[in-house]
Amino acid sequence: MGTLNGFMTEQHQEPDQTAEDLATQGIPEQSQNPPGHTDDMTPRPDHGEESYQGSGRLEGLKAYITGGDSGIGRAVAIAYAREGADVAIAYLPEEEDDAQETKTWVEKAGRACVLLPGDLRDEQHCRQVVNQAAEQLGGLNIVINNASHQWAKRDSGIESVKTEELDRIMKTNIYAMVWTTQEALKHLGEGDSIIFTSSIQAYSPSEKLIDYAATKAAELNMAINLAAELGPRGIRVNAVAPGPIWTPLQPATQTPEKLTGFGEDTPLGRPGQPAELAPAYVFLGSPSDASYVSGTVLGVTGGKPTF
Ligand code: NAD
Ligand code: MG
Repeated sequence: MGTLNGFMTEQHQEPDQTAEDLATQGIPEQSQNPPGHTDDMTPRPDHGEESYQGSGRLEGLKAYITGGDSGIGRAVAIAYAREGADVAIAYLPEEEDDAQETKTWVEKAGRACVLLPGDLRDEQHCRQVVNQAAEQLGGLNIVINNASHQWAKRDSGIESVKTEELDRIMKTNIYAMVWTTQEALKHLGEGDSIIFTSSIQAYSPSEKLIDYAATKAAELNMAINLAAELGPRGIRVNAVAPGPIWTPLQPATQTPEKLTGFGEDTPLGRPGQPAELAPAYVFLGSPSDASYVSGTVLGVTGGKPTF
């Protein structure tokens, strides 16, 4: 029986898809409805379940991750747990299966995982869960504004945008991040940090994602503004800009045809795995490694420029 930073590897499932597999096999046509489920994806994404090795970089810290049930959020939750942090994750009630799976991996690493189901577009709920996360974890050190919605199952760009789509995208990606940050500031102090999950779409927007791309640009702008405002309090604020990553968001919101060539237009020629994002969040969240890093963006894009 092997151990990986204290977590037993005796009874693991089939190995997850590797980045190399995605490069050689590509992604078959498939479709889901939002918010999307990991179990319905082919191939299954890799969240670092069998590969991420911690080294105590976040020992004793408490992290709140919105959208921590699946995709990038799950990979970050697993990595944070193996780095010694307890985590709380927010997600939609219909994602309970994914949230339970994330919790299992966090607990295998010997850390606590607080589950906070509910819709972050509801202001009262959104504010309440930040405080519940802090209460149940016994404090908060890192807040990751990661939950988002996008919609590309439309005919064209601006002329296809429906008001209900716009509302869902703006409320999830902008309002919820503002409310979350406001509440989080009641708990964060010197050495703590906030990380926004922005996107390559902030730099190089796709026509069909015009509303989503605008929110991702706004998140970067907020991160820079907040870094200036919160620097004097010793709180760092940064963003990660992922490129095309194989997560439930993609089959749930992109057309099936779009998925077959997903990520092939990057210099590295393939989509990224959620696992490949986690080290960026570990670095930015670490009060020692990133002690002088604030107001910046870390691109994890397969080679697409973020400047
Ligand atoms: P994902 O579907 O695994 O995660 C998104 C999560 O957002 C969902 O799991 C869900 O829990 C949460 N969410 C959405 N609406 C919500 C609501 N109203 N209330 C509560 N939770 C809600 O997909 P992902 O790709 O890991 O997305 C994580 C982040 O990465 C997002 O901010 C996304 O914009 C960003 N991103 C993704 C890609 C990509 O190619 N996958 C690229 C760039 C940026
Ligand atoms: Mg999910």
